[in-house]
Amino acid sequence: MKKWNLVIDVDNCNNCHMCSLACKDEFVGNNFPGYSAEMPKRGANWIDMQKKERGQTPMIDIGYIPTMCQHCDDAPCLKAAKNGAVVKRDDGIIIIDPEKSKGQKQIVDSCPHGSISWNEELEIPQIWFFDAHLLDKGWKVPRAISVCATGAMRALKVEDKKMQQIVKDEELEVLNPEFKTKPRVYYKNLHRINKCFIGGSVAIKKNKIEDCVTGATVKLSLDNEILSEIKTDDFGDFKFDKLPPNSGKYSINIKIKSHEKNIKVDLKDSIYLGNIYL
Ligand code: SF4
Ligand code: SF4
Repeated sequence: MKKWNLVIDVDNCNNCHMCSLACKDEFVGNNFPGYSAEMPKRGANWIDMQKKERGQTPMIDIGYIPTMCQHCDDAPCLKAAKNGAVVKRDDGIIIIDPEKSKGQKQIVDSCPHGSISWNEELEIPQIWFFDAHLLDKGWKVPRAISVCATGAMRALKVEDKKMQQIVKDEELEVLNPEFKTKPRVYYKNLHRINKCFIGGSVAIKKNKIEDCVTGATVKLSLDNEILSEIKTDDFGDFKFDKLPPNSGKYSINIKIKSHEKNIKVDLKDSIYLGNIYL
């Protein structure tokens, strides 16, 4: 059976907020019986935007990431709910019933991803429920996804086997895999949020003139094992990305012709090493 999934590419998200605005426009002031009560005007962001800044000037990288209910297949909210207040539909979508869930604040606390808002006025837990009310009327994709002009978001209704192949082919990841909730929301290029880089600019001084060094070989090693080898670009820059934070003491070897330099980096967070003179 085909089920819904969401794929979000961090590389293509420009923080325009159209997805979260479309969500607010759809739900603030509007009730959809059986799906949701209205979203509060202030305070709730069923689709939330987060940002991660990595590195230091001039090697800065800023990644934006929309987050929402992950529509988990092994959802703790489902287990925490009483009276069948949370439902997993056959198409993979999670719905929190606005009437049955009244007063059930424990549902909010059960979500390890922090995806549930508590509507203080109505005393109900609320999520972005994949715009299921529109899909059930024949919409091809959720409204929040249809407004994404960059293609950063894709809603896919496919069989689980096919989705797992897409996950493999496109090297997709889920948020917080340690929670083991089997999310149906996948991220591409998530390293821009949860991994680090080591970067630098290689230069040389000759006759009091500084020049960038293009084509120098830069090797990254950890525990005497070479992990990666790259060349500096036209500006003398190099960057090793997708490194786990706090992952140890790395060695960097830079070499071109008779010039060579070795640098040690105890990696905590993304770091730009500045100008490195050979
Ligand atoms: S609409 Fe698309 S590009 Fe804009 S914030 Fe949302 S995911 Fe990012
Ligand atoms: S993200 Fe939270 S609210 Fe959504 S399905 Fe998973 S556990 Fe439930």
